[in-house]
Amino acid sequence: MEYEVVIGLEVHAELATKSKIFCSCTTEFGGEPNTHCCPICTGMPGVLPVLNKKAVEYAIMAGLATNCKIAKYSKQDRKNYFYPDLPKAYQISQYDLPLCYDGYIDIEVNGEKKRIGIKRIHIEEDAGKLLHDQWEEGSLVDFNRCGVPLIEIVTEPDLRSSEETRIFLEKLKAILQYTGVSDCKMQEGSLRVDVNLSVRPKGSKEFGTRTEMKNLNSFRSVVRAIEYEAKRQIEVLESGGVVVQETRRWDEAKGITLSMRTKEEAHDYRYFPEPDLPPIIVDDNWIEEIRKRIPELPDQKKERYIKEYGLPEYDAGVLTSSKAIANYFEECIKYTQNIKAASNWMMGEIMRILNDKGLEPEEIDNIKIKPNQLASLINLVDNKTISNTIAKQVFEEMFETGKDPEVIVKEKGLVQITDRNVILEAVKQAIVNNPKSVEDYKNGKEKAFGFLVGQVMKITKGKANPQLVNEILREELEKI
Ligand code: ADP
Ligand code: MG
Ligand code: ZN
Repeated sequence: MEYEVVIGLEVHAELATKSKIFCSCTTEFGGEPNTHCCPICTGMPGVLPVLNKKAVEYAIMAGLATNCKIAKYSKQDRKNYFYPDLPKAYQISQYDLPLCYDGYIDIEVNGEKKRIGIKRIHIEEDAGKLLHDQWEEGSLVDFNRCGVPLIEIVTEPDLRSSEETRIFLEKLKAILQYTGVSDCKMQEGSLRVDVNLSVRPKGSKEFGTRTEMKNLNSFRSVVRAIEYEAKRQIEVLESGGVVVQETRRWDEAKGITLSMRTKEEAHDYRYFPEPDLPPIIVDDNWIEEIRKRIPELPDQKKERYIKEYGLPEYDAGVLTSSKAIANYFEECIKYTQNIKAASNWMMGEIMRILNDKGLEPEEIDNIKIKPNQLASLINLVDNKTISNTIAKQVFEEMFETGKDPEVIVKEKGLVQITDRNVILEAVKQAIVNNPKSVEDYKNGKEKAFGFLVGQVMKITKGKANPQLVNEILREELEKI
């Protein structure tokens, strides 16, 4: 039997506010344990929370950017649970009246548009962190993260594969970064993904029983966890068993999911309205004011790159997939006319080098090559100072040293050879050294020509102008 995978996500994103959601403590990542805390975020008796307005604005902005409706009236609720890293023993979240609901994000899968529903976006507080291996006699707790504002984005079960899920998450991440709602630094836990997954026979209308995998902190883990869990559930069904609704933990090292606990139902949490906080009332003026502050989003930017810069759709998609990449690109083309070359360098060498060094797209600002230097490199090729081959070499050195390309070209004597006589000498030498290839060429083997070009380039250490090499080599070969 053929199966279909059904996936819905719950994504937690830390908001980019300076202070926490109910107190004025800093939200800054890290710090000595338990130094970013006060009586409120450590849940001391008698303290009262005050809602951070900026957190609400960011949540509304996330809602608007994902086509959600914004609730004019919403409230916060207590979710009661034994949280060892949240000393109040309840989390202030939103239950039946979330701030944003009924939205969607359009993604493109294999060239086809697909709409993924956003069920709701609500605000809540983050918990602290348990440290298990710092003290042999037990676990330690760091409350610094307690009370950092979060949004939880819940999708409809509209995703059908790990690939679709990855594309969706990349789009969502780009939207949150473009709007400045969250920095989405996954390595710092700013973006965490819970994956709900079920399988069903292809064509079936009903959903199967789902499991939930919590707190996946890289897209790679999400993809691997989905692949594993889908296979596991299919095997359970194929062997006549039933899938149990439960929370499973993804073990990154072993590459498997393990049962953690049976899923708790909403009523287990004894949700009730938070008595210390008034309802959140949002009027149209406020919504419109926030809407006006939304910058150009990935889809709009992509359209503009196609229209304004004449870039192919593919290029525009890649370049706008992350805010940092788009910013870098836009900065680069301030210094060069050759927009397509800038796009090619970004999609080729820059992406390759980020990948090789294990850097995320948003870490592009940390590399030593600055956008204006990449533009200079492109200009050096365009004005024929260096060849494309040499440019690749210069690029590597720029990446290592951060030097300007002009300086590298000068220091290493890499200026392109355009002197016809010098190239002619190299051509003659290549012809003398490779009689067999010359003969092959004469017998109509075009491949031999390419080989001879390569030989000329080798003799000139890659510095000869390729067009001239082609031209002169042809001429010389014709004479034979
Ligand atoms: P709960 O209230 O139990 O958390 P929700 O209806 O809010 O359940 O759904 C939580 C998440 O699980 C959502 O992302 C939703 O898309 C997803 N989901 C719900 N049912 C299924 C299913 N059968 N298979 C996969 N995902 C599902
Ligand atoms: Mg849920
Ligand atoms: Zn505090």
